[in-house]
Amino acid sequence: MRYISTRGRAPARDFADVLLAGLAEDGGLFVPESWPHFAPADWRAMRGLPYHALAARVMQPFIGDSIPFETLRKICEDAYAGFGHPAVAPLIQLDTHLFTQELFHGPTLAFKDMAMQVLGRLFDYVLTQRDTSVTIVGATSGDTGSAAIEACAGRERVDIVILHPHERTSLVQRRQMTTVHAPNVGNIALEGTFDDCQDMVKALFADAPFRNEVRLSAVNSINWARIAAQIPYYVAAALALGAPDREVAFSVPTGNFGNILAAWAARRMGLPVARLIVGSNRNDILYRFLDKNDMSMVPVEPSLSPSMDIQVSSNFERLLFELMDRDPVALAETMRVFRETGRMPVSDAIWHRARGVLHGFRLDDAGTEAAIRQLHAETGYLADPHTIIGIAAARAHAPGQGVPTVTAATAHPAKFPDAMERATGLRPALPLRMADLFEREERFDVMPNDIAAVQAKVRALVGRNRD
Ligand SMILES: *Cc1c(COP(=O)(O)O)cnc(C)c1O
Repeated sequence: MRYISTRGRAPARDFADVLLAGLAEDGGLFVPESWPHFAPADWRAMRGLPYHALAARVMQPFIGDSIPFETLRKICEDAYAGFGHPAVAPLIQLDTHLFTQELFHGPTLAFKDMAMQVLGRLFDYVLTQRDTSVTIVGATSGDTGSAAIEACAGRERVDIVILHPHERTSLVQRRQMTTVHAPNVGNIALEGTFDDCQDMVKALFADAPFRNEVRLSAVNSINWARIAAQIPYYVAAALALGAPDREVAFSVPTGNFGNILAAWAARRMGLPVARLIVGSNRNDILYRFLDKNDMSMVPVEPSLSPSMDIQVSSNFERLLFELMDRDPVALAETMRVFRETGRMPVSDAIWHRARGVLHGFRLDDAGTEAAIRQLHAETGYLADPHTIIGIAAARAHAPGQGVPTVTAATAHPAKFPDAMERATGLRPALPLRMADLFEREERFDVMPNDIAAVQAKVRALVGRNRD
């Protein structure tokens, strides 16, 4: 399988290249040159497989010759072995046609583990083949950093340094990063905001000598491998509910559009998905687009669902590329205008195509809290402030006619104990395997917002592990 850039000015690459590169050189996003397709008989043959075997089967066409199938199967087996539920991504029924799929049984209790646990192992495999190593640097305000650290801790070919804003993350989120004690993991608490952390990471990547010296790399949400590793759970849910002989719908609480794009990809590969429902919080750029073709940037406002607090949904570019019949020139021009003016010019024809499959929904903080309370009163189920937006969206936009609608449950409610307590009076407990999170020793360096200091810290970590 080869990959091309959405903006058409980068050479085609194979999966291993795309995994290591992240973004294409022309600023575009990598997409498969052609979409793999499974026939109904292929889907039926996957029914009843253990999750890891199904995941390997669904990902295989995207990986092509880069990794032998048996190796991929073992990587998936190993990646999901530590999950806290034997089914890995279990379905929970909330109503006759309403389900959640719990994607939060991984080590950091959020759905990002579903892809990240595979990614860390894919990196190790590909870097071993090439006899090289990388240093992953990233900024986090919450879930991504901890999932990346858990995925990379102890890997031989990867060092990882994550910057978080000092005293500005939740305690659970910070401790999930700082209590991982592996020699290849570094945590920097930067004196500044999340934006300062992001600017620092950008500055590190912009410093070419430093970038080459430590071989900087990233695992952010535009990495195609993350999308590929998120497609299998949609397949697993649909098969369990009767696909390919019955349609399903998916509702996804959305930020960077990575998770819902994976659902779209499953549909593109032949899974019978009747509808995709996009849930947003007050940062509602996607809702505004779907509602009235208004894709315009406004400043981010904090909400009860911080992992959906985004200004721009970067993975939307991949969908737009498809909606524009894969015209890279038109796509590049659209993105240029968006960057320059803050408003994306989408023709009515393309907008109608988007609305043919996607339905938008938005819920503010008051609505989020009320919906958590109401669902709990009705069913006893505790949905975290992200998941509940997906559930409310599913209730508002389910296709009806007996089509089951599955909401991606993206985080464990114990990650957001304060919001849960305010809504329901209950403080959900951490799963047993994590119950000692608040007793574990933390390791992190508080550093000034100064690039030389951060570079010295990264060099020290890399030097320790590579000499
Ligand atoms: C990252 C995240 C999201 C948003 O996912 P995208 O792929 O960015 O759309 C939603 N909920 C939780 C809990 C997350 O961590």
